[in-house]
Amino acid sequence: MPLKPPFSSLKAWLIDMDGVLYHGARPLPAASDFIHALQETHTPFLFLTNNATRTPAAYVQRLGEMGIRVHEDAIFTSALATVYYVNKNFPPPRQVLVVGGDGIRVDLEEAGYRLTGQADEAELVVSAMDTEANYALCAEATLAIRAGAPWVQTNPDRTFPSERGIVPGAGAIQAFLEAATDQTPIVIGKPQPGIFRQALTILGARPEETVMLGDRLETDILGGHRAGLKTICVLTGIASREQAEAYDPRPDWIIEDLRALLA
Ligand SMILES: [Mg+2]
Repeated sequence: MPLKPPFSSLKAWLIDMDGVLYHGARPLPAASDFIHALQETHTPFLFLTNNATRTPAAYVQRLGEMGIRVHEDAIFTSALATVYYVNKNFPPPRQVLVVGGDGIRVDLEEAGYRLTGQADEAELVVSAMDTEANYALCAEATLAIRAGAPWVQTNPDRTFPSERGIVPGAGAIQAFLEAATDQTPIVIGKPQPGIFRQALTILGARPEETVMLGDRLETDILGGHRAGLKTICVLTGIASREQAEAYDPRPDWIIEDLRALLA
């Protein structure tokens, strides 16, 4: 099933995953058909997710279970964008205290950082979504930040769409640490322009011929618009039709689900 006009004329796609392709382990309608349509027409695309809890390899496996077969290179997470940022601004070797899941931990280690759980060793603090966050680690992070360690946050999403409904996201961890430190972190991830610039570089695409497809207005749509991309808001995730229609900047297209993109 090919893409239908006007979507078939878009040259490159940045595609959010949570709330767009799936909710938890449940694929959303036409998710695999949509990706197949892009693959059949050799249309460049990149999965651009603010979710820093998983590695690209873990995403490849999860997508594979839904009938979507892609290479690790097709996945760009806020964890990878964060590693790119800290590599440039706070290069390794350095000891990093991470409040976050496997995705950001593995990516930092592979980039040459050493992880520590001790505030007095931490030369950098990185925070992210952490489904096993505990008070003791957050206390170490607070002590490190208060002692002057630079603080980088993978992504600002306050909430996260789970199979059971909306639960705390990375931004809720950030808010917890902000309350404890009286400081704000350097934030990576959508809607910051850096991650869009990095994604366009990877795709080799120009902003005006690229589209951002996502379900969240204040990250996908705002960030895509600011980066000069076309935007599509799909209503299978966080945003409701009322919210999408009232949002400034308004998405270029608002669709019920991915079936609306196919002929
Ligand atoms: Mg999403």
